[in-house]
Amino acid sequence: MAQLADKRPSFPRFTGQDSVDVAIVGGGYTGLWAAYFAKKLEPSLSVAVFEAEQVGYGASGRNGGWLSAMPPGNRATFARAGGGLEASRALQQEFVAGVDAVLDIL
Ligand SMILES: Cc1cc2nc3c(=O)[nH]c(=O)nc-3n(C[C@H](O)[C@H](O)[C@H](O)COP(=O)(O)OP(=O)(O)OC[C@H]3O[C@@H](n4cnc5c(N)ncnc54)[C@H](O)[C@@H]3O)c2cc1C
Repeated sequence: MAQLADKRPSFPRFTGQDSVDVAIVGGGYTGLWAAYFAKKLEPSLSVAVFEAEQVGYGASGRNGGWLSAMPPGNRATFARAGGGLEASRALQQEFVAGVDAVLDIL
């Protein structure tokens, strides 16, 4: 990332004067995904992402690039902790749908 410093896009600095419909704090996957869908679902909204460092500064710019539907934990533990087997299955389906959604959007 340091080697690409001069190729990075620059973004306006917040002066405290702007007013937006949706303000999102953090330009990682979570913030960018939220901004993308806020705009997609309601194009008339003004949406701003506020990033303290640079977009992708956090874990989103440092991860291994694995796109997986594997849950970060044990499925049986999920089932015991929450709504049982059905909830655990529904959660797994969301992970699978998430992978498809990322590929669609890319
Ligand atoms: C080494 C590593 C490897 C990984 N590998 C994988 C992988 O292969 N596959 C996978 O799916 N996941 C992986 N992950 C997990 C994944 O990267 C994270 O779950 C994901 O990036 C989190 O995204 P995020 O947007 O929630 O957080 P972040 O990407 O951390 O974004 C948060 C952003 O908010 C900004 N911020 C914080 N405070 C403020 C503030 N007060 N004002 C403005 N901005 C602020 C930060 O600068 C940062 O840019 C990995 C994580 C790490 C650390």
